[in-house]
Amino acid sequence: MARPLPDILPAPWPADLPAPPARTDEAVTRAAELLASGGLVAIPTETVYGLAADALDADAVDRIFAAKGRPATNPLIVHVADTAMARSLAADWPQAAELITASLWPGPVTVIVPRGPRIPDNVTAGGPTVALRCPEHRLTRRLIATLGRPLAAPSANRSMQLSPTTAGHVLEGLGNRIDLILDGGPCGRGIESTVVDCTTDPPRILRPGPITRAELEAAIGRPVVDVTAADDDAKSAAVRSPGMLPRHYAPKTPLEVSATAAERVEELVQAGKRIAWLTAQIDDPRVRSLAASRDLLVVPMPADPAAFATSLYATLHAIDRRSLDRIIIDAPPDTDAWRAVTDRLSRATKA
Ligand code: AMP
Ligand code: MG
Repeated sequence: MARPLPDILPAPWPADLPAPPARTDEAVTRAAELLASGGLVAIPTETVYGLAADALDADAVDRIFAAKGRPATNPLIVHVADTAMARSLAADWPQAAELITASLWPGPVTVIVPRGPRIPDNVTAGGPTVALRCPEHRLTRRLIATLGRPLAAPSANRSMQLSPTTAGHVLEGLGNRIDLILDGGPCGRGIESTVVDCTTDPPRILRPGPITRAELEAAIGRPVVDVTAADDDAKSAAVRSPGMLPRHYAPKTPLEVSATAAERVEELVQAGKRIAWLTAQIDDPRVRSLAASRDLLVVPMPADPAAFATSLYATLHAIDRRSLDRIIIDAPPDTDAWRAVTDRLSRATKA
């Protein structure tokens, strides 16, 4: 018999309230009960929605892999309520982890540290390190504190598909494979956390994200290497992070990043293709004249990298529903501020 669809429990927590409204706390309690009995709950975070299970329950963690269709070789990020919980899961707490977490947690940065004995094998894909993050989203920190145990939570989507940034995206992607969705509203940051390996010296960024290299360097007071900015050989030699799988984060509609987007769009429209064009150049007369075409959907995008990241996945989810032939995106500037966006776009365009 097919499982029913999961409940979506609204769990608003207005910024001016120190404690959540009673209804929100009831939703958190229900989510904690499900997690304590080995269930799967989709949770809001500031990056993307996560698919959570008790990180110390190997059977529950297995259910995450099954629901996502995720290869067992791809380790999970463990979410904690505070630094004390993080340290209790690590065999060693390198100075870089101490400095990064002291200044940037709670927040969208994940530290890789030596794995402690409480962490089941499947969480780390059998590896000697564990990925830890304390989310900025206080609803999720409250859930973890209520449960009193850490949550393993990869993005709440089927493997290889776009990450969800709303409860609706989770329902669409995972539907009856999971037990409950906690709806904390749209994700503020919109792309996955920065992952930094603190077991090497210098520490290395394995996945660029909302926290930039400059912010990490300011936190630890010395250089950090971004292996994702290196050339391809160095990258494959350095791969220890599954977020670095070449293809990931992809919409269903083929996506192309173009440095000469206006020309490319014109060419495709003339060839009879139905196109969505994501561009910040909406005041350009060329864009304005092309936008009149019936076969072209021009989607204005923010010129600021953080705002662009916040709306990127939601925009791609919306375009996927229209069954167009192709998505064209203006090539972002080649700067550190755009590194996370460029990384996600390049993985989305790999065959
Ligand atoms: P997801 O949450 O689906 O975006 O994927 C989990 C992410 O966790 C991957 O992209 C990796 O970057 C990261 N990760 C988890 N555990 C480890 C680990 N032990 N070493 C390196 N990266 C890890
Ligand atoms: Mg993912």
